[in-house]
Amino acid sequence: MINTLLVVEDEEQLRKMLVQHLEADGFRVLTASDGQEAVEAYRNFGPDLVILDIMLPLIPGMEVLKKIRSVDNTPVIILTARGDEIDRLLGLELGADDYMSKPFSPRELSARVRAVLRRSRGGDDKVPNQVKGLSVDLLRQEVMLKDQLLSLTTTEFKIIALLSEHPGQVFSRLQILERIYGDIYEGYERTIDTHINNLRRKMEANGDTGIKVKTVYGAGYKLVEEGSSNV
Ligand code: CA
Repeated sequence: MINTLLVVEDEEQLRKMLVQHLEADGFRVLTASDGQEAVEAYRNFGPDLVILDIMLPLIPGMEVLKKIRSVDNTPVIILTARGDEIDRLLGLELGADDYMSKPFSPRELSARVRAVLRRSRGGDDKVPNQVKGLSVDLLRQEVMLKDQLLSLTTTEFKIIALLSEHPGQVFSRLQILERIYGDIYEGYERTIDTHINNLRRKMEANGDTGIKVKTVYGAGYKLVEEGSSNV
């Protein structure tokens, strides 16, 4: 099945680049360059997923998102300015399924599109968290491990949020870096190890919970729950 995506972005160059990459990845892509067009395209074509820039002419992205949510649960990934936490949080609160901070890599966007589509098809439209005893609250940026609130840095939070989306799946250092910093990762792969070690220390501070970040030699890291099929 070919999925149809609606890409809403007013910056022409970025829009074209996204279309090119997403089409090459096998998606059918519709575009809109302002909020008004976005609402019309959404009504007329019923895309499977919307990639929505927040800063848009005519109708702001948040309003477009509200209009979509007033109709149905079609997955929406919002595009926010780098470091604009307010937009990100507001977007998630209004029902966006995921977000990308600019600048980001188109490869990462494709991966997120696939993940969000998979999730929405599973009928499980909020961030799934299949590890029992671990809860990751994206809005509050809080992690509870066996009823203990972990005090994490933003980077540590992003790492555990990523790993917990797919327990048992291995993420390479590069994938983790892309998620944390967008496209800027050259030469920083090893810094991930330090963040992971700090994260582990905090996770183990109150004893062994059985929930661990495991190193997979030559591949990366994964989140495991001992005694479950996620190992
Ligand atoms: Ca824009």
